[in-house]
Amino acid sequence: LFITFEGGEGGGKSTHVGRLVQTLERRGIAAIATREPGGTPTAEAIRDVILSGAVAPLGAAAEALMFSAARIDHLDKKIRPALAQGKVVVCDRFADSTRAYQGALGNLDPKFIRELERVTVGDTRPDLTIILDVPAATGLARASARRASAPVDRFEAENESFHAALRQCFLDIAAAEPERCVVIDATQPPDAVEASIWSKVSQRLAA
Ligand code: C5P
Repeated sequence: LFITFEGGEGGGKSTHVGRLVQTLERRGIAAIATREPGGTPTAEAIRDVILSGAVAPLGAAAEALMFSAARIDHLDKKIRPALAQGKVVVCDRFADSTRAYQGALGNLDPKFIRELERVTVGDTRPDLTIILDVPAATGLARASARRASAPVDRFEAENESFHAALRQCFLDIAAAEPERCVVIDATQPPDAVEASIWSKVSQRLAA
C-alpha cells in the first residue's frame, strides 16, 4: 500500500506521517516513512540545492525536472523495493506537490506536468492520498511560527494569497480524483486529525 500526504505548509504532514507509521508498526504492519523532495541521498542533495536558497532560483520548469529526477531515484531505490517487500510506504509529499507548486503555481502547461508525471512515476501511483487541509491564514501562521525555530526556505516566505492558491490546487486534485484522495480538516486537534487518518487507512487496509 502506497500512501502519500499532501497539502500546503502548516498542515502537520510530518507529524501525521510519523504517527501513522507508529500506529501501523504497533499493529504488526511493516511500514516505512519517507519524504519528498528527498528520501534518498541523491534526492536529498537535489532538495538541498533547490530549497536552501544557496543558488539562484531555477524557475518552475527546471524545478519540476530536478524534483522529478529526485523522485525517480526515490522510487527506484526506496519506494518500489519497500512495496515489493509488502511494506506500507507512507510518503510526506509526492507528485501532487509537483502538480501544485511547479505546475499550477508555476504556471506550467498541464500537459507537460501530466506527461512528466507519467514518465517519472510509471505505474507506481499512490493508493491513498491524504490531503491535510488548513485555511491559508492558518497555514501561513503555522509556517511562520516554525520559521522562528527552523531555517527558512524560500517557499515558506510566500504570502497569504500564495497559501490560498496552494490550498485550492490540492482541493482541485482531490475533487478530480475522489477515489484516491481524502481531504482532512487539519484545524482539528492533532488527535482528532490522527483518528480521521486512521479511519481512512484502516478502510483501505481492509479493502
Ligand atoms: O513538505 P515540506 O515543507 O518539507 O516541503 C519543503 C518545501 O518544498 C516546502 O516549502 C514546499 O513549498 C516546497 N516544495 C516545492 N515543490 C515540491 C515539493 C515541495 O516547492 N514539489
